[in-house]
Amino acid sequence: MPDLMKPPTGPRCGSCGGPALVQWRRRPTDNELANLVAIEQARQAEALSLADQSQPAPTFGPLPTAGDTTIAVFGCAEHAIHLEAAARVHAADCSAPHPDHVPDCDCEPEPHPAPEPRGGPMVTLPTGWRVPAPSVDELQAFGQSIKQADPAAS
Ligand SMILES: [Zn+2]
Ligand SMILES: [Zn+2]
Repeated sequence: MPDLMKPPTGPRCGSCGGPALVQWRRRPTDNELANLVAIEQARQAEALSLADQSQPAPTFGPLPTAGDTTIAVFGCAEHAIHLEAAARVHAADCSAPHPDHVPDCDCEPEPHPAPEPRGGPMVTLPTGWRVPAPSVDELQAFGQSIKQADPAAS
């Protein structure tokens, strides 16, 4: 089957819709952030409705903000921005990949993100995420909560 006949799969160039070769990130627009917040609020509402009423109510982290959220942007070989620029987070209103601007864009990307904090034990979750290991205090609190939930275990 010729390539053109294949249904589109994978990320597409934000300018021409061709297969993406380069990905970078930009801040969400107000609408995108509102959508992300709505999705997170719906997820939390569902988790609350499914929660065991005999247990303490689940707690959630803060809702997404523009400062901790990025949106993936894709460009094909023709509409890719510089790799140096692609390594940085762009403004919400960055027009890249714009055929008139590539391989540049029309915003001033943010500085490189700070390197991951080092030191301290890490654990790998079943999802493959690496997160800081819980402290001894947190583990003891967790043990207490299990004993309270199931007095027979103590
Ligand atoms: Zn393109
Ligand atoms: Zn930009």
